[in-house]
Amino acid sequence: MSATLATVSYIGATILFILSLGGLSNPETSRRGNLYGIIGMTIAVLATVFGPQVTPTGYAWIVGAMVVGAAIGLYAARIVKMTQMPELVALMHSLVGIAAVFIGFANYIDPAATSQFKGAEKTIHELEIYIGVLIGAVTFSGSVIAFGKLSGKIGGKPVLLPARHWINLIGLLVVIYFGGVFINTHSVAEGMTPLIVMTVIALLFGIHMVMAIGGADMPVVISMLNSYSGWAAAATGFMLNNNLLIVTGALVGSSGAILSYIMCRAMNRHFIAVIAGGFGTGEGAPAAAGVQPAGEVSPILAPETAELLRGAKNVIIVPGYGMAVAQAQHSVYEITKFLRDKGVNVRFGIHPVAGRMPGHMNVLLAEAKVPYDIVLEMDELNGDFPDTDVSMVIGANDIVNPAAQDDPTSPIAGMPVLEVWKAKTSIVMKRSMASGYAGVDNPLFYKENNRMLFGEAKKTLDEVMVALKAA
Ligand code: NDP
Repeated sequence: MSATLATVSYIGATILFILSLGGLSNPETSRRGNLYGIIGMTIAVLATVFGPQVTPTGYAWIVGAMVVGAAIGLYAARIVKMTQMPELVALMHSLVGIAAVFIGFANYIDPAATSQFKGAEKTIHELEIYIGVLIGAVTFSGSVIAFGKLSGKIGGKPVLLPARHWINLIGLLVVIYFGGVFINTHSVAEGMTPLIVMTVIALLFGIHMVMAIGGADMPVVISMLNSYSGWAAAATGFMLNNNLLIVTGALVGSSGAILSYIMCRAMNRHFIAVIAGGFGTGEGAPAAAGVQPAGEVSPILAPETAELLRGAKNVIIVPGYGMAVAQAQHSVYEITKFLRDKGVNVRFGIHPVAGRMPGHMNVLLAEAKVPYDIVLEMDELNGDFPDTDVSMVIGANDIVNPAAQDDPTSPIAGMPVLEVWKAKTSIVMKRSMASGYAGVDNPLFYKENNRMLFGEAKKTLDEVMVALKAA
């Protein structure tokens, strides 16, 4: 393929990626957005593989790597459950990070890549390598820890080392110092030491940064690592002199940064405060054993729930992580359809950090074919709870916790929540009194107008459906 054709293909792929991001911003156009992304990526891979930068001797390596990568990807796509998607995404980010590190080192020791640069160009190229490896290493180790925290292998409690800000500052100064040493070296052998020292510090910094972040702040960390993986890819693009990789990396990096901002706003937190760590200081391992109950709860059974729903005019359903665990979205849809056919106004309230990844609930509800126009964001319907007869909380906990508003000492104080308790009756559907991801007790359970419908969400919803139909 000629260089001109490769450039034209790259421009085409870039446009498709931008259209893809535009499409993904709305559930109704997200399928189209995905399709643009797939076509864009196919064009990008073909244009790169058959482009002028790859010599025929490289084909065997590329085909080998693609076969191995595709086999692992297909296997993972088949076995990974919907609830494990956030962990998978964290792992994917770590792969982008480690790839940037390897490419940086390979680029540095490759005589063909380094000998072509002289003077200022050489300095710029070495700076690209240094920064690329730095971002890649932080992304890699940070994402591995995020994977551990999301899968429950590492506890959600923040690990706050004494003088941790000083440790970070000293690490930063050492990295800057060795950066100066690195670009002033005259041989690869000399440059290896500062490069390796910086890589080790960056890996430790990634671990330290994510370990210091509490369970409740994890959504921001996920989106932040998403952004870092984009910048790592962009840095790789600079190292390999590949314009498409630079553009794609910048798109991912900046969209991840915007997502981090949205997540911070959703949690009423400042980005710097999140990075400094310590929020959500409870023992917030996923689906933790929970804290001691602090009051009396009123349990309810499926037939009474069905009766309340049947008598309601306005119902708001608030789904959370438990709906994903139980894969209860189809049962939720059945009930929604039944009630809507009977003239009940059923709507869904989606908290920005519900579940374990941005957009988690929207994906599940779209999969179950819940109409988009009844799926509303928190801000759109939070004022409507006083006019609601029944609010149904399905496997959600932190996102409906009134302590965020009432208790300034709560680890989630200040986080906006869905005010389900303002409905005439709220029904919380979960298996036990266990706390949510942030590890905080929930006073909602003890409110006078609240009922607890204990049980596995899918099974319980199916029982409610049977009771609804029986009446
Ligand atoms: P939570 O983790 O607060 O609560 C989920 C509840 O679901 C649990 O209390 C659990 O209680 C219940 N549950 C679990 N499995 C089932 C089941 N099979 N059937 C019925 N209930 C079940 O989830 P929320 O969605 O309310 O809040 C999200 C939390 O996750 C927030 O703290 C957020 O910060 C954090 N987070 C969000 C991310 C994101 O990007 N969205 C990323 C990382 C973390 P029980 O065990 O008693 O059944």
